[in-house]
Amino acid sequence: MMSVVDSATAATKEANAAFYTTSGLNFHDASDLESGHKGFVARNDDCTVRTADGAGEIWTSREFDKQVWKDGAVPPTVNPSLWREACKNSVRGLFRVSEHVYQVRGQSLSNMTILITNTGYVIIDPNISAEKAADNMELVRKHLGDKPVVAMVYSHAHADHFGGAEGVVSAAEAERRSLPIYAPDTFVEHAVSENIFAGPAMSRRARFMYGSILPHGSTGMVDCALGKTTETGTVRMIPPTIIIKGVEKHVIDGLEVWFQIAPGEAPANMHLYVPEDKVFFVADNAYCALQNVYTIRGAMTRNSRQWSLSLRAALQHFPEMETLCGGHNAPVFGAAEVHGYLTKQADVLKYMHDETLRLMNQGYTPVEIANLIELPPSLSSEWYCRGYYGSVKHNVRGIYTFYLGWYDANPCHLDPLMPRESGVKMLEYMGGVEAVMAKAQADFDQGNYRWVVQVLDHVIWALPHHAAARQLAAKAYTQLGYQAENATWRNAYLCAAQELRGEAARKGGDLSTTSGVKFDIMDVPTVFDLLGIWLNGPRAFGVSLTIQWTFTDFPQPLKYTAAVRNGILAHNEGHTLGTDTDEPIEIIATRAAFQQMLMSKGEPEKVEEVLAGGNFAVEGDFGVLKDFLSLFDKPNASFPIASHEPIGEPVMANGH
Ligand SMILES: [Zn+2]
Repeated sequence: MMSVVDSATAATKEANAAFYTTSGLNFHDASDLESGHKGFVARNDDCTVRTADGAGEIWTSREFDKQVWKDGAVPPTVNPSLWREACKNSVRGLFRVSEHVYQVRGQSLSNMTILITNTGYVIIDPNISAEKAADNMELVRKHLGDKPVVAMVYSHAHADHFGGAEGVVSAAEAERRSLPIYAPDTFVEHAVSENIFAGPAMSRRARFMYGSILPHGSTGMVDCALGKTTETGTVRMIPPTIIIKGVEKHVIDGLEVWFQIAPGEAPANMHLYVPEDKVFFVADNAYCALQNVYTIRGAMTRNSRQWSLSLRAALQHFPEMETLCGGHNAPVFGAAEVHGYLTKQADVLKYMHDETLRLMNQGYTPVEIANLIELPPSLSSEWYCRGYYGSVKHNVRGIYTFYLGWYDANPCHLDPLMPRESGVKMLEYMGGVEAVMAKAQADFDQGNYRWVVQVLDHVIWALPHHAAARQLAAKAYTQLGYQAENATWRNAYLCAAQELRGEAARKGGDLSTTSGVKFDIMDVPTVFDLLGIWLNGPRAFGVSLTIQWTFTDFPQPLKYTAAVRNGILAHNEGHTLGTDTDEPIEIIATRAAFQQMLMSKGEPEKVEEVLAGGNFAVEGDFGVLKDFLSLFDKPNASFPIASHEPIGEPVMANGH
């Protein structure tokens, strides 16, 4: 199937050319371009990791290797500032940061950071997937020596910093060797709540944000700001064994390492410091882009005030730092540079925070605030404050929500019509679809792409299969993508265009935000919390049942009760909870058999298989278990985003 490739329109070429002057950036400044090359050790010529059967690619740098920054040689389909960032992130391989600190960069979305200790390696943040982490480890061992991993560190609870753990060391080996695995306090709790409860929605949205369904190249995905892109593969965490709670000094295999709890990009987050080398590891609290106070894949807005304070606390605790490296992008070298960088990163957070509250307290609404706030030139002229990842516009709307929630105090927003109904009414009031299309085309011709997608959104809600509306919206989204300085916006716009054109099957499951946290490391209450989220409320209207569980594979058998009533799943420890009306049944099972039974979704053959395994016994009315299993919905990992097709319509490529 041929996919449509739009070229840049005259308006887009003009906007991208004007960016050189309107942005206030000094495109002749090359000071930050060199740090990415500094300390280069080695790289593999072909950085492609294939799936075990060889049929698919887990990661490839093929297209990214062609991205080289040369002034004046920017594709017309890419914002020049974003192209520069993309070229910076395309520098890849193994690099020496200092005597004891190395990094593999540009070969995953995230950096793998390696500390050299007396006898081996400490691996900080083992990428997203085991296959990619193993590939990066091979490069490390080939050039730095075949030494053991003596410890692992997860800086924070995002999957791009723990998902590839098993590519560094297998779970079995970690257990056998009692491998120390350091993580910040509440790491597992946050990994679960961030990645599991809302995981399917986040993962579908993450595909738009990271552009992982787009072709690589100048009319598709060029970068993700934090790094090139997300890899696929096996995402799995090995649970941490040492929990950091404050500012702590540890000596790991002879090397002194300081940890500092520092909430910011993630609530469970920590910095590291290696005093011998004066190297500070900032995790994701600073990267070479404006921080993502709100992430468009969807998550709770981060506490920008606290985040700014965490960066200042780093400067206070480790004032002698001379080199900074982090979870993404290239390091910053030199004491003055590092201090300036951290100060401005703290200040830009505080500026967005304080200005949002100032305007909010004058009565401005989120969209107004987003359009009003501009950074001071002293900040916006720094490459690392540019909105490649976070943007001022989407961050400040997040800050508004952090304090005041979604409601902008306009009562007309209290109870709007469903968007499809509004769309139908809009079309009727605006003189019908043909009249709207004619005007939208005129606006497209004038380069008013923001308005074109806004107005056509109503049309597409009303008429999701209207081919001309979809085509025109796709063209406008494409031009917005070509002009966007923000990598995640570019990806979202281009993914919207792709969906509207029906060019790719809708997919869920982007590994940067999902999985990696499996049932077997969740505690039992969390598993039942998750089941409560999967319970189809209306289907459970009028259902009342109680199951008393005994999980046998704990040091002491764990007794637990789950009851369905009032359309919810209530649960607690012990065999005490019940409803007034129903006779509880009892189930004695291992956790693995319980999980297998849930996955059976009540299909008779699979149920039989679980029962035959001998680790799942039911005492009482078997029908109660069957009723229980019939109440759960599978999350929809491929819901429509830009095309507004009714949810549940078949998902197909080019099939409208
Ligand atoms: Zn990250």
